[in-house]
Parts: sequence; C-alpha cells; structure tokens
Amino acid sequence: MTLQATDGPTPTTGPLVDTFGRIADDLRISVTDKCNFRCTYCMPAEGLPWLPRDEVLRFEEIVRLAGVFAGLGVKEIKLTGGEPTVRRELPSLVAMLRDAQPGLAISMTTNGYLLDKLAQPLAAAGLDRVTISCDSLLRHRFEEMTRRDALDQVLAGMRAAEQAGLTPIKLNCVVIAGTNEDEVVDLARFARDSGYEVRFIEYMPLDAEQHWERAKVVPSRDVLAQIDAVFPLTKASHETEPATSYRFTDGAPGAVGVIASVTEPFCDTCNRLRITADGQLRACLFAMHEADLRAPLRSGASDDDIAQIIRTAVWAKWEGHKINHPDFERPARSMSMIGG
Ligand code: SAM
Repeated sequence: MTLQATDGPTPTTGPLVDTFGRIADDLRISVTDKCNFRCTYCMPAEGLPWLPRDEVLRFEEIVRLAGVFAGLGVKEIKLTGGEPTVRRELPSLVAMLRDAQPGLAISMTTNGYLLDKLAQPLAAAGLDRVTISCDSLLRHRFEEMTRRDALDQVLAGMRAAEQAGLTPIKLNCVVIAGTNEDEVVDLARFARDSGYEVRFIEYMPLDAEQHWERAKVVPSRDVLAQIDAVFPLTKASHETEPATSYRFTDGAPGAVGVIASVTEPFCDTCNRLRITADGQLRACLFAMHEADLRAPLRSGASDDDIAQIIRTAVWAKWEGHKINHPDFERPARSMSMIGG
C-alpha cells in the first residue's frame, strides 16, 4: 500500500474522510445478527448466541443514524445481517428509511430464502435492489455449504426479486478450494442465462469456527482465468465497488465480478463503513476497534454529537487490514455478527 497519512485534528465539516484521504460514502447496516442459514464459512452448525433483543438497534434508531450518515455524505445504504429478512417487519424499516431519505440508494444483501414472499413488499416499500448469496447451483453442494437444503427456494427468491424490479440483481458466491471452485464456469454460464452479475468472493478469515486457511482461498485471478478460457471477458470500465466487474466479450447478458479481498486487497480505495446490529461502527471489516453509537443514541446525544463520534472513528481508520502480514489478528466478531 502506498497511502500517506496526514496529521491534524478530526475535521468538523466536509465529507467523511480519514487521515489517508479516503472518503467513506457507503454504509452497511446490519439489522440483525440472526440467520436462518448456517454457512460453513461463516457460522457454526449451532451454538452462536444471539444478541439480547434490547441491544439490537430499533427501527427509529436505524433511521436516525441513516439520517446522520446521509448528512455526512453517505450515498448508499445496504441492509445486511445475519440475514436481514429474518428481522420482523423489515419492509416497514425500508419504508421508514425511504420516507426519511428519498435520495439515498437502499439495497440489501440476503441469502434469498424468504424473497419469494418479501421481494414485492420490500420493493413497494422503496428498496432499490438486492444482492443474493448463492455458492452453488448443485442441490447437494448448496446444502453442504449452507447447511440448508434450500437451493430451489433461493432460485425462486431470485425470480421474485427480478419480478419485483429489485434489479440489477447481483449474486455473491464465496469460492472455496476443494469445495465449489469447479463450479465457477457454470456460475458464469448462469450469469449469461439470467442476466445477473455473479460476483466471486475470496474466502476471508471471518468464519466463526476459525477453519479458514490460506490454502482454501481461490485467488480471483484464477477464477477469472477459468471463466475467460470458456467465455472471454472484457473489463467493465466503471468501478465504484470493491468488485472488479467484467462483461462477456461476445455481448451476452449478465456479468461476472471478483472481490479479491485476500490476494489483492483494495484497502487504498475502500469507501465502506459498517454498523453492527448492536449499533457499533466499524471502519473496516477486520477492525479491532468499534465506536459505540448506540449508547449516545440512547442517552440523549444530539445528531451533531453523533456526527462527531462518526467523524472521529472514520478519521482513525487504519491504512488497511493485515491478512497478508505475519502479525494479522482476526477480529473478535465473525462475519455474521459484523454484517457482511
Ligand atoms: N445473510 C446475508 C447473505 O447471505 O448475503 C447477508 C449477510 S452475509 C454475512 C454477507 C456476505 O458475506 C454473503 O455473501 C456471504 O457469502 C459472505 N461471507 C460470509 N462469510 C464469509 C467469509 N468467511 N469469507 C467471504 N465471504 C463471506
């Protein structure tokens, strides 16, 4: 990394900037730590205790925080979890957010299991689009990876999202060596057939069971090479996300993308922030430090007070995660508790 830090006090005006000059304008809000799947690379088969209900942010608190972040220049909010669709009355939250922030892009990352019922109400409430996780198109393997026999239900969820207009639809696929790496070409074919963008994510050391090992990471460049050999790819010109996107050179619909968090970290262009379901602000997925927003929210802090807590946390954002350094330390919380 080549970032240069500047010294100085936390800014009190302007966009949400850190000492390396990166501007944070993309916020992920986890609306629950609960999940109805138990993906092997994320959660244990059983036994992860849920947060006590009173520790989880209420809808009014989420909407208020969204307003403060929007005032600080955040342009997009992605609802996540755990599994966001298991949060009761989720369409009401989306409607409240949409009402309060008409100009904000609001999307959601979901496993898709409940989308056949929820896609329409969520779209009607003002959700713009969804990203759906899907690691395999083979029923037995999908079940092995998610610990749920739910591929057909998730495929139905994708169709429902499309019908509801929650487009463009993106799929997230975590690629794990020895598990589903032989399916990347089939998933690219699915992208061409469906018109979706399938994004291949490198396996990160954020699984609750701590089974991650470097040998299980399939480098994104290998994924791209496999696909390109069958369906030639052309890099898409516009980059606004950590995913690098490619279209099919022959003009077929759909696209593929890669998120190379481990082999080619994109920390120097990171514009993301995360709020956990219990209201802790994380400036990096791998951060060792969280800024508590819930306590000030519940103890009478003004929006300006909260904005300054956020500015201070962003200003202190570190240069980047250290997955590739010998002194890498995993954060205490795993992916489902952080909000991916
Ligand atoms: N439940 C929702 C879902 O399935 O999309 C939202 C939360 S989930 C934690 C968000 C994304 O993180 C999913 O696409 C999931 O595959 C990904 N993920 C979880 N654990 C991961 C890991 N160890 N490495 C890479 N991606 C991971």
